[in-house]
Amino acid sequence: MDKRKWQSIVPRRKTDQLAVVFVITELFVEIYFELFIILPELYPTPTVAMYLHVCLGFYLLFNTLGNLILAIVVDTSTGTEILPAVLHPGWQYCYTCMQNSPPRAVHCFMCGKCVMKREHHCVFLGKCVGIRNHRYYMMTVFYLAVGSLYANFMNMDYAWNLLGGFSLKTGLAMIAPILGWMFGVTESISFFISFQCGTCILSCFMFFTLLIFHVMLIYRGQVTYEWRHGIKEYDLGWKHNFLEVFGARWYLVWLFPTISSPLPCDGITYKKRNENIKDI
Ligand SMILES: [Zn+2]
Ligand SMILES: [Zn+2]
Repeated sequence: MDKRKWQSIVPRRKTDQLAVVFVITELFVEIYFELFIILPELYPTPTVAMYLHVCLGFYLLFNTLGNLILAIVVDTSTGTEILPAVLHPGWQYCYTCMQNSPPRAVHCFMCGKCVMKREHHCVFLGKCVGIRNHRYYMMTVFYLAVGSLYANFMNMDYAWNLLGGFSLKTGLAMIAPILGWMFGVTESISFFISFQCGTCILSCFMFFTLLIFHVMLIYRGQVTYEWRHGIKEYDLGWKHNFLEVFGARWYLVWLFPTISSPLPCDGITYKKRNENIKDI
């Protein structure tokens, strides 16, 4: 891989680099935790059910990591596009990139690029979410939400038994493990376990909230900026709005991150909603 390509993949800011390393490390710590601590407790002797859990766990990890990596490496900036020298209606001139920027593109100062249909800058990707990696971002959030819910079901009995059953103290140790450790609710040995279980509970809540919020935005044909400012002109109906994010083969994208699903929009020109459609 040439140096310029590599530089475009690696996040520019130190905080973004740390956030990406944290997420990937935490994914591997979590799979280690489930494989070598939780599963041997639940299944002291190997059974078919245990192997099914192992396969499902690796499938979730593969999809999470695959979508995360593609969300990072897929370029959604205007960098590779041939842009007109004349400023068309609805376009803006970007004084940093020194080029005309298409509608819905916004310059990100953290990425140092104009991003097509910019959703937001995600520190955990170290990149902006835009038209070309929106699908991978959504699938990453989906698999993180499902994975953390699954991990919570796996951990529940073991963590409860370890921490002494259901009580206010157990709740404290699971939701705020550092506080639980400081107040002597959990011993140092079980700190790691309560920390990991607590992370799964908080992650599950956080990722499902994030998923619902972004599904709502896609349903309405908006990105976060447009939602904040009440811009509804790109809402072409929920079916088209979902196609614009997940592509023509939207029904397959959840299976594997590498499944091709061409987008109906090139990121440069956008259809606007029919003027006759009244705002709800
Ligand atoms: Zn720019
Ligand atoms: Zn950015």
